[in-house]
Amino acid sequence: EQRLSTRVRNIKPSATMSVDAKTKSLLASGQPVINMSVGEPDFDTPTAAAFAGIRAITNGNTRYTPAAGTVALRKAIVSKLMTENGLTYSPDQIIISNGAKHTLYNIFTAICDEGDEVILPAPYWVSYPEQIELAGAKPVIVYCDESTGFKMTAAQLEAAITPKTKAVLLNTPSNPTGAVYHEDELLALAGVLRHHDVYVVLDEIYERLVYDVKQTSLAAIAPELQDRAIVVNGFSKAFAMTGWRLGYAAAPLDVAKAMASFQSHSTGSPSSISQAAGLTALANFNPEVVQTFQHRRDILVEGLNSLSGVSCLVPEGAFYAFPDISGVIGKRYEDKTIQSATDYCELLLEKSLVASVPGDAFGSPNHVRFSYAVADDQVADAVSRMREFHQKLV
Ligand code: PLP
Repeated sequence: EQRLSTRVRNIKPSATMSVDAKTKSLLASGQPVINMSVGEPDFDTPTAAAFAGIRAITNGNTRYTPAAGTVALRKAIVSKLMTENGLTYSPDQIIISNGAKHTLYNIFTAICDEGDEVILPAPYWVSYPEQIELAGAKPVIVYCDESTGFKMTAAQLEAAITPKTKAVLLNTPSNPTGAVYHEDELLALAGVLRHHDVYVVLDEIYERLVYDVKQTSLAAIAPELQDRAIVVNGFSKAFAMTGWRLGYAAAPLDVAKAMASFQSHSTGSPSSISQAAGLTALANFNPEVVQTFQHRRDILVEGLNSLSGVSCLVPEGAFYAFPDISGVIGKRYEDKTIQSATDYCELLLEKSLVASVPGDAFGSPNHVRFSYAVADDQVADAVSRMREFHQKLV
């Protein structure tokens, strides 16, 4: 007899979390590891937002809020979506949750039935396939490589749609590739979606972190899809608020109501303190972080492309580089032969103390993800450590 449900038995532990655990134990033993494995900004929560959180505590703003979040924050999100994204929503269409990860889980639960299909372009963020499966649905992976800038084309989307398709997921800017869908590419996808009654889930959590390109929401340029578009965003990446656990969705009213009911019985309202901080954060985005990330990206990508066996597209957003490392497969480092991206990442961590995540976890076994959300000098240092590592490969 099985002690655990089929549902949880099939969940794979998060690869990013296991690299992180190994990295932290090396750090704890005093090894100067450069941790490029985590998806977390290295700067602090804006001071004004942090103080708003403190004030919430001392003023006794420490009680349950409505399950979907405070009216004040939902209204502020409505006006943010209007002024920054060109999207029209009412506060009852906004559902605030404990991080965008939680938001996405609520969405798949609210819209998917057993046997439904969700189209998921790969390389994808590690949690999407697991969440889709937890909701009883099946991820239908559409592999997108460098030839299209890691982006799904209209033809690929059309070919993947079946009568069972319930939703299509788009994450732009992307984790792990940093790809950003441009307006013409989104319009082409919208042209396909117009003819099929499916949801489009838009994970825009990295929207502010774009370099020399414009971030556009598919929902804004294809208003005819608004009834089927669900926009996801959060405070973790733009405001360095990963630990506050705050994310949200803007959804058609029936979906929003279902998500709110589900949330009211599962996790209840999000933290009153975090919501107070989030309200202040919305008005305190620091645009300098964009230049900082862009500078680091340039150092990292140039460095990666100077290594033999490595080739990296220039990512246009987020804070990840996703090089193809298939050129080092079969090479030896001392007595070890590199047979996979996992071997490469393990050796790089062990010998050069640079932590990265193998692409398998993102549905792309020939790639490695490096996060450049680490200090500028650490990015440069990581590049020189990798250069030394590669010089020893035979
Ligand atoms: N979506 C993407 C693409 C992400 O990379 C992440 C975090 O790594 C999330 C959603 C979830 O972020 P959070 O739950 O911290 O809001």
